[in-house]
Amino acid sequence: MNDSTKWLFAFEEGDGKDKKLLGGKGANLCEMTQIGLNVPPGFVISTEACLAYLDTADRSLPDGVMEQVREQMAALEQKTGKGFGDPERPLLVSVRSGSAMSMPGMMDTILNLGLNTETLQGEIRATGDARFGYDAYRRFIQLFGKVALGVPDELFDKEFEAVKHAAEVKQDVDLSAADLKEISTRFLKVVEEYTGKPFPEDPMTQLEIAVKAVFNSWMGKRAVDYRRQFNITPDMANGTAVNVVTMVFGNRGDDSATGVGFTRNPGDGENKLFGEYLINAQGEDVVAGIRTPKPLDRLKVEMPQMAEELAELRSKLEAHYCEVQDFEFTIERGVLYCLQTRNGKMNAQAMVRTSVEMEKEGLISKERALLRIDPMSLEQMLFPRLDPGAKAEAVAQGLPASPGAASGVAVFDADRAEQLGRDLGQKVILVREETKPEDIHGFFASQGILTSRGGKTSHAAVVARGMGKPCVAGAEGISVDVSRREALVGDTSFKEGDTITIDGTSGRVYLGAIPTVEPDFTPELSTLLAWADEIARLKVLANADTPDDARSARKYGAVGIGLARTERMFNAVDRLPVVIEMIVAETPEQRQAALDALLPLQRKDFRELFEVMAPHPVTIRLLDPPIHEFLPDEHQLEQDIGDLQALARSTRGMTALAGAMGLLHTPDETRRDLDVLRRQVDAILVEEAIVKKEAMLKKVRALHETNPMLGHRGVRLGISFPEIYQMQIRAILEAAAECAKAGIEVQPQIKVPQVCTVEELKRVKTYVDDIHAQVQAQYGHPVNYKFGTMVEVVRACMRAESLAEEAEFFSFGTNDLTQATFSFSREDAENKFLPLYNQSHILQDNPFEVLDVKGVGKLMQLAVEWGRAMRPDLHVGICGEHGGHPASIDFCDGAGLDYVSCSGPRVPVARLAAAHAALKRRG
Ligand code: ADP
Ligand code: MG
Ligand code: MG
Repeated sequence: MNDSTKWLFAFEEGDGKDKKLLGGKGANLCEMTQIGLNVPPGFVISTEACLAYLDTADRSLPDGVMEQVREQMAALEQKTGKGFGDPERPLLVSVRSGSAMSMPGMMDTILNLGLNTETLQGEIRATGDARFGYDAYRRFIQLFGKVALGVPDELFDKEFEAVKHAAEVKQDVDLSAADLKEISTRFLKVVEEYTGKPFPEDPMTQLEIAVKAVFNSWMGKRAVDYRRQFNITPDMANGTAVNVVTMVFGNRGDDSATGVGFTRNPGDGENKLFGEYLINAQGEDVVAGIRTPKPLDRLKVEMPQMAEELAELRSKLEAHYCEVQDFEFTIERGVLYCLQTRNGKMNAQAMVRTSVEMEKEGLISKERALLRIDPMSLEQMLFPRLDPGAKAEAVAQGLPASPGAASGVAVFDADRAEQLGRDLGQKVILVREETKPEDIHGFFASQGILTSRGGKTSHAAVVARGMGKPCVAGAEGISVDVSRREALVGDTSFKEGDTITIDGTSGRVYLGAIPTVEPDFTPELSTLLAWADEIARLKVLANADTPDDARSARKYGAVGIGLARTERMFNAVDRLPVVIEMIVAETPEQRQAALDALLPLQRKDFRELFEVMAPHPVTIRLLDPPIHEFLPDEHQLEQDIGDLQALARSTRGMTALAGAMGLLHTPDETRRDLDVLRRQVDAILVEEAIVKKEAMLKKVRALHETNPMLGHRGVRLGISFPEIYQMQIRAILEAAAECAKAGIEVQPQIKVPQVCTVEELKRVKTYVDDIHAQVQAQYGHPVNYKFGTMVEVVRACMRAESLAEEAEFFSFGTNDLTQATFSFSREDAENKFLPLYNQSHILQDNPFEVLDVKGVGKLMQLAVEWGRAMRPDLHVGICGEHGGHPASIDFCDGAGLDYVSCSGPRVPVARLAAAHAALKRRG
C-alpha cells in the first residue's frame, strides 16, 4: 500500500456489500445513501486504514489518510454549504466506530465534533439558540474528553452535579443557557487539568485525534476480550472503520426528534413499525433513559407528516434489505434523516413469523425464509421458558441438562414424588443428589429434575431429556439432606413442600414459583416446517419408547419412530418384577412362565406404538443393555442379607431362651409361649428372605461383568437366551398382525443391537422367520416387516457389505460407535479428561455432542458405501443423540443417509436443519 491507496470512501461511492472493508455501519450508510434514503452526508475511513495504522511502530496514521480526510471534508463542506471550523456557518460531524460485526467494547461515538470557542458562537448565531449551543458544546467536551482523551466520566459528572445543585434544578432539561455555559467552562478545565494540555481548538486536530482513538479502541482490552469470548476471528472482522457523519440535530425544538425503530416487532414478529422516539432530544438520550421515550404509534398524533415519511422509510428499508431492519433516525426541523440500519435481532417466534409473512408478501423466497432461521433457536419455542419479564435471582447454578423451565414443590425421593405428583396431582420437582434407575417412577410424576451431582450425561440428564422434562444437573451449590427432607443452598435452604423453579435451558435454580410461558407451536411454525419438509431430502423420525412419546413426536412432525428402546418398557414398575423373574429363572420352564407374562404386555406396548404412528414406520430395537441393569445392586443385597442375619440371630436366641424357660404354664407363661411361637414363625420368614436374597446375590454375582458395556448385552444376549428375543419378536409381529387385521397400516421394523458379524444376524433372522410364519398362520393375515441392524460397532462398519446381505436397513448408533471409535467411555471421558482435551485443542469438540466427522463419520461413509454395494436400496439412518444436532444432520445429508432420528422436541430443529442441509447441497 502506498500514497495512492484509497483509504476513504464517501457514502456515495462505498460498496455497501463490503462490510469487511467499511464495517457494518459504514457499509449500510453507503448503501442507504445510494438507494436514495436521506442520510446526512459523510464518509468512511476503511478498516484497512485501521490495520495499517495499528501496524505502524509509533501509531501514526498511514500516508495519505489525512490528505484524503481533508479532501473528503472539503467535499462535505460543498454538500452542506458549511465550513469545518468556519465561525459563521460551522460544519459539525460525529465520529463513529464500526467493524464488520457489531461489537460492544469499541469506542463510543463522539458527537458535535468541530465545536470550539469560535464555532460555538457561530452555531449560536446561526440557530439563535444559546442554550442549544452550550448544550451541544458541553456534550462534545465530555464525549471527546472521555472517549478520545481518556478523561474519567466521574470528573465531568462531579462538575455537572455541582452546577445543577447550585442552579437548584432537578432535571437536565431545566438547566439554563448560562448553567450550560458554566458547565462547559468547567469541563474545559477538567480536560486541561487531567491531560496537562488545553482542549484542542483546531477542528482538524480534533478529528485526527478522534480517528486515532477509534482505531486504538480496536485493540482495547474490552474489544479484545469480547472477540476472544465470542470467537470472532480476523476473517469475520478485522479492524474497525471510522464513520464521519454530518451532524443533524433532534434537539432543535418541538419540530425535531430522535428515535429508533424496528421495521417489525422483534418480540412477536408483527408486521408493524415498532420503536420509540423523543421530541427535542439528541440520539443518545433515547437509550440513556434520562427521559422516557414514547412508542412510535404516538408520532402519528404528534407529527403526522413525519409519521408518514417514517412509514415510507420503513418500507424502503425492507424492500431493499429483504430483512427486518433495526434503524436509527433523527428529525431536524421537520426533515427526516436515517442514521443507521442493520438486520434486526429477534427471538425465535418473531423470526418464524416474519419469515412466513415476508414470503407471503413476496419479499423473500421460501429458501431464504428457511435459511434466515438458526435451527437450534427453534428450541426456544418448544419448551416452556421463564417469563422474560419475571425478575428473579437464581440461588444456584448447575448444568443445563435438559431444556425447559418448571416450578413445583421440592421432594427428595421418588416415592414421595409419586405420592404427591401422581396420587395427589401436585406439581413436584424431584431433588436428588443423583438419580438411579429405580427412581424412574419419580421422573414420571415430576415436572422436572434437579440434582446436585453428575454431568450432562448423568442418569438424571439422559432420562429427563428422553422424557422431554427440564433438568438441572450437578448444581453443586446445593447440598441435599434426604433424611431431613431438606436442601441447603448457601445460607438459605428449602424443605420438602417448598416451591422451587428450575430452568433446564440455563441451568439456574430459583426459590419460589417464577412464572413460565408455555411453548407454542404456532401456525407459522407449522407452515415454515412444512416448507422445510418439501425441501429436505432427509426424513426426520423420532426416538420414542412409549405411546405418549410417540404422540408428542407426531405433534412435532416426526414421520416414524427410528428407535424404540424396549428396555425402557421393561423398566416400568409393573414389569420389573416379571423381568427379574425372567432373568433369575433356574429352569427353562420358569423362564418361559415369566416370558409368557411379558408377552401380552409387550404386544400391547407395540400395538399402541403402531397405532399412534400409523402409517409411518416404527423401528423397535430388541433388548440391548446388559441384563444386570435390571437386577438389584450387589452391595445393597449384601447389606440386606447382613441385616437379616442379625435379625435372625436375635430372633433365634430369644426363641431358645423362651423355650428353655417355657415349661411352666401360668397364664403369663402361656402368653410367653405364644410369643415364642410367633417368633418362630418370624424366624422362618426371615430365613426364607435370607435364602431368597442369597439366591439373588448368587445370580447377581454370576452375572457380574467387569465391563458391562462391552460385555453380555445386545444381540449376545439374544443368542445366549433366545427366548427373550423370540418373545419380543413375537410381540412385535402379533401386534402388527392385530393392527393389520384391524385395517391399520403398519410398518414394523425389527432392529438388532450390537451386531458385529452377519452370523449373529442370521441367527436372529431364523427366529424371525419361524415366528413370522407362525403368526401369519395364527392370524390368517399377511404381516409385513423389515429386518435390520444397528451399526454401532467398528467391525459392523467394516463388515457392512456382508451385514447388508441380511439387513434391509442400517441404523447408526453413533453414541456407541463414538465410544468404540475413540475407545472412550462416555461418562469417564466427559467427567475426567474431555474438558481438558477441548481446552487444549487436542479435540475441537465433544464428539458425543458434535459428531466426529473425520473418524466416526468416515466409518459411517464407508459402511453406507459398502452396504449399498451389496443392497442398493439399503435404508440408512442415524438414531444417536447426534441425530438432532444441525451440524451432524448436515453431515448425514452429505453421506447419503435416508433419515435422522432424534428425541421428540428436537424433531422441529432437525426438520429445519435437514432443509438447510439440502439447500446447502443444491448450492
Ligand atoms: P452506537 O453504535 O452506540 O449506536 P452510533 O454511532 O450509532 O453509536 O451513535 C450513537 C448515537 O448518536 C445514536 O443515537 C446515533 O443516532 C447518534 N448519532 C450518531 N451520529 C449522528 C449524527 N451525525 N447526527 C445526529 N446523531 C447522530
Ligand atoms: Mg447506533
Ligand atoms: Mg447403543
